[in-house]
Amino acid sequence: MIAAASARPHLDLRSVAERLEAVRGRVTRVCERSGRAPDEVTIVGITKTHPVAVTRLARDAGLAHLGENRADELAEKADALPEVEWHFVGRLQSNKSGDVVGRAQLIHSVDRRSLVDALDRRARRAGIVQRVLVQVNVAGDPAKGGCSPETSEQLIAYACARDNVAVEGLMTIPPMPPASADPAAHVQPVFASLRQLRDDVRERYPEVRQLSMGMSADFEAAVAEGATIVRLGTVLFGPRR
Ligand SMILES: *Cc1c(COP(=O)(O)O)cnc(C)c1O
Repeated sequence: MIAAASARPHLDLRSVAERLEAVRGRVTRVCERSGRAPDEVTIVGITKTHPVAVTRLARDAGLAHLGENRADELAEKADALPEVEWHFVGRLQSNKSGDVVGRAQLIHSVDRRSLVDALDRRARRAGIVQRVLVQVNVAGDPAKGGCSPETSEQLIAYACARDNVAVEGLMTIPPMPPASADPAAHVQPVFASLRQLRDDVRERYPEVRQLSMGMSADFEAAVAEGATIVRLGTVLFGPRR
């Protein structure tokens, strides 16, 4: 067995592969109950804070998609593992967009025009079309990024008019449920709202198809509501420091 990193002796290839298999089983069961095909759901392993050795384990365990939430960490890991499809899921400052454009195949967190402008400019310079999702703050949670549901369609229209940015869908992060709440019941209306918004927007922008929603605590509820991308850290790699 290969040790991932001396600080985390519990993470090895076999344990990550077993966790991934268990997660895939849970996704499949929800899909069966919801009349969906399991291959409609992409699992993105969120390796933030973990060392590059863990990203290698994740890849070797069969995760073709990995994600990070900080520009500098994404740059380091994407350069070390260029064969992986990288996702950027964190808040992005416009002046850091150069670290992310081209390295992340999909940026999940576009929430304002100035960021669209910065990404479009960078992508044009790199000669690529940067794929993005628009992040929507469905519940108006002040602790989370994202545009309001009311302004989301204007932002999508703005981004779709740029030549070097392609909007492929929507992303949301639900508010933390209160400790007493059943997390799945708490987030279900948030996921249902994002799906409804996607369905509405898609009538005018058919390329807006993806729904990035669901994390370790709530991904089954998200898949039941139509998630096409789930972003999973803890359930695959254990607790973060
Ligand atoms: C950290 C993070 C995740 C993964 O969270 P877990 O609860 O560990 O699965 C998903 N999405 C975003 C945006 C994150 O920052």
